[in-house]
Amino acid sequence: MLRRLFSREKGPEGIEQYKERSPVLADHGEAVEETLSVLTREGKRTLNEAREAVEKAVQEAARSSLRDLRLMEEGRCPDCGRKLHQYLFTSICSHCGWTTFIMPEKGGAAVYLNDGSKIPCQAVFDTKGGYVLCVANDVISARIDKKNVAHIEFTWRPEEVNERREQHRRETRGVCHWCEKPFDEVYAEHLKRVEEAKKADREPEKAWAPIIVYAAFGVYQNRYEFCSERCENAFKRQYPVRVHKNCYDRPCPDCNLCIKRYEGYDETLLKRLEIVV
Ligand SMILES: [Zn+2]
Ligand SMILES: [Zn+2]
Ligand SMILES: [Zn+2]
Repeated sequence: MLRRLFSREKGPEGIEQYKERSPVLADHGEAVEETLSVLTREGKRTLNEAREAVEKAVQEAARSSLRDLRLMEEGRCPDCGRKLHQYLFTSICSHCGWTTFIMPEKGGAAVYLNDGSKIPCQAVFDTKGGYVLCVANDVISARIDKKNVAHIEFTWRPEEVNERREQHRRETRGVCHWCEKPFDEVYAEHLKRVEEAKKADREPEKAWAPIIVYAAFGVYQNRYEFCSERCENAFKRQYPVRVHKNCYDRPCPDCNLCIKRYEGYDETLLKRLEIVV
């Protein structure tokens, strides 16, 4: 987007041409032309310097959003690094208040004012400037002083929530690293056996949970999940760890033999050892 600031039909040699211009910048055409003419007057060097500064800003923004994404992927708050509470459409850090926030696409929102009146919107944005912006029909329909806002309501249609729930289930359902069976199938079968045992007055099998194994076959620690001890053992027989790393018998949290990607506190080995102690 920033690159388009340099959109210009004719320019000094060696400067890339950006013909496309965002609708917002097009509205500021005059200002852009003026800036460019100042820069061109000052010569190619200034223009190049400005372009490098823009490139750098874009790169830095990309780097920091990549860092944020990595942290969020691991369920961590990008601001303070603590565990996030994850819900269907939002993640919340109860420690520092950081949130991701997705508004309903179908249901919409409404701002309720202190005097009880209601302003319906397609989307609402809480700006830093002490105002709430209402968007309706793709334009800002109201700018409301936060002091006048009693509360903001979001309407979620059941079909949108269900769609997301289903998508979430598909994305998060794990698969056994050995036999490739999806965990939700394994879990459903387990529940069925527990039910049958109950009916037959037999002792039910213990609660099912995937077996989590951390191991480093090279420089990096990896995470593997298995549906059963049988699959876990088959994997370990097939892939023995190297001599200097006894990952299969050593819990991850206090190991520093490999580069860590995960803290490893959910490791099944750790749980087994804690049961033994
Ligand atoms: Zn936080
Ligand atoms: Zn398996
Ligand atoms: Zn290790």
